[in-house]
Amino acid sequence: MVNKKNYELGTAPSVIRELFAYGLEKAKEVGPENIYDYSLGNPSVPAPKKVNETIHQQVDTVEPIKLHGYSMAAGFDEARDAVAANLNERYDVHVTKDNLFFTCGAAPALTAVCSALRISHDTEIIAIAPFFPEYKVFVEGAGAKFKVVPPDRENFQVQIDELENLITDKTQAVIVNSPNNPSGVVYTEETILKIGELLHKKAAEYGHPIYIIADEPYRELVYGGVKVPFIPTLYDNTIVCYSWSKSLSLPGERIGYVLVPDTCEDSKEVYAAVAGAARKNGHVCPPTLIQRVIEYCVGEMPDLEAYEKNRELIYGSLTKMGYHCAKPDGAFYLFVEAPNGDANEFSERAKLNYNLLVVPGDGFGCSGWFRLSYCVDYDMIERSLPAFQKMIDSYK
Ligand code: PLP
Repeated sequence: MVNKKNYELGTAPSVIRELFAYGLEKAKEVGPENIYDYSLGNPSVPAPKKVNETIHQQVDTVEPIKLHGYSMAAGFDEARDAVAANLNERYDVHVTKDNLFFTCGAAPALTAVCSALRISHDTEIIAIAPFFPEYKVFVEGAGAKFKVVPPDRENFQVQIDELENLITDKTQAVIVNSPNNPSGVVYTEETILKIGELLHKKAAEYGHPIYIIADEPYRELVYGGVKVPFIPTLYDNTIVCYSWSKSLSLPGERIGYVLVPDTCEDSKEVYAAVAGAARKNGHVCPPTLIQRVIEYCVGEMPDLEAYEKNRELIYGSLTKMGYHCAKPDGAFYLFVEAPNGDANEFSERAKLNYNLLVVPGDGFGCSGWFRLSYCVDYDMIERSLPAFQKMIDSYK
C-alpha cells in the first residue's frame, strides 16, 4: 500500500516530458538536426564565466568541511548577507539575511510558502492563468485549495474583476509570476498596483492579510529595456520566491530563496512557518558549494544577448507568417495562438509531420495557445521555420 495521491502524482504523464522524450527517441531515427524541440525550459546559455571561476577557486582553496559540510538550515550568513545587500542596492529596500531563507530553487521555496500559509483544509491559494503547471501540485500538496483566474487572452495581464470574484475569506495568497512562464509577458506596474489595491480592500473586509507570492525565477530575463516591478515595493504583504536556475543558468545546482520582508504583516511568524515547512519537507541546508558561489556571484547577469537574438528571430518570423503571439518581453518563452484555436491538434500534427515539438497550453490553464521555449540553438530556430510555415499554410 502506498499513498494514493502521491502514487497518482508520480505516475501522471507530463506533456512536456513526453514531448522531450519523443524528440530524443525520434532523433535516433532522423538525426538530431531534424528535430525542432521547443519543449523544455532548460537555459541554453552557459553560466557566467565568474560562476565557473568561483567554483574552481572555492574547490581549490576552501577546506572540505566548509565546502561540502552542512550549512545552517536557512543557508550561510555570508551568502544571505550578500543577497540582502544586492537586493537593497537594486531596489532600495531594507532587507537583511534574517529575511532570507535559502532553498533548493524556486520549487521548494513555493512548496514551503504554500505550506506555511495553509491554515486549514479550506485555505485557498489563487494562481493567474496562464501559470506554471506545478503550482497546482504545490498548492494541493500543501493541503490547500487551488483556484485559477482565467487568462486575459488580449494581452496576458490580469483580469482584476475575475480575481475579485475568486477571493473569499479563505483566500490566503495569490501567486504572481512575472516575467511569466508560459506567456513571456511582464506584468506592468499598473497591473501589480491594481492587484495590490484589490488585496488591501479584501484583506480589510475579511480581517486578515492576503499575501502575494511573487514567483520570480525569470526576474533578470527581460528585453528591450522593459522594467520588472519589484513587487514588495508596491505591495507590502509580498513574499518572494526566487531561484538562480534561469538567471545564472544553474537549474541543476538547485539554489534559490524565500524572502519575507519586515514590511510583510506577521513577517516573523511567516518566516518561522516557512522554516518549519522546509524542515517538514526535508528541504533544508541547500548545497553548500553553490551557496558559496552565490555569495560572490549574486551580482552576475545572464547572457541576455543570445536569448534576445532568438526572441527576435522566432517572434519576428512567426508574426510575419501570420501567427498571433503574446508580446514576449521576458523569460525565454513565446506563447502562440493555435491558428484554428485547437493547440492540442496543432501540437500533435506538428510533432508527427515535422518533428516540431511545442507544448499545448491546457496544462498552463490556457487552451487554444501553445508554448515555445526559445532557450535553444539559434540554428535550430532557423531550421524549424519552414515547418512553422507549412503548419500555418495547412489551415488556409
Ligand atoms: N516557477 C516557474 C514559473 C518556473 O518556470 C520554474 C521552472 O521552470 C520554477 C518555478 C521552478 O524553478 P526551480 O528550478 O528553481 O525549482
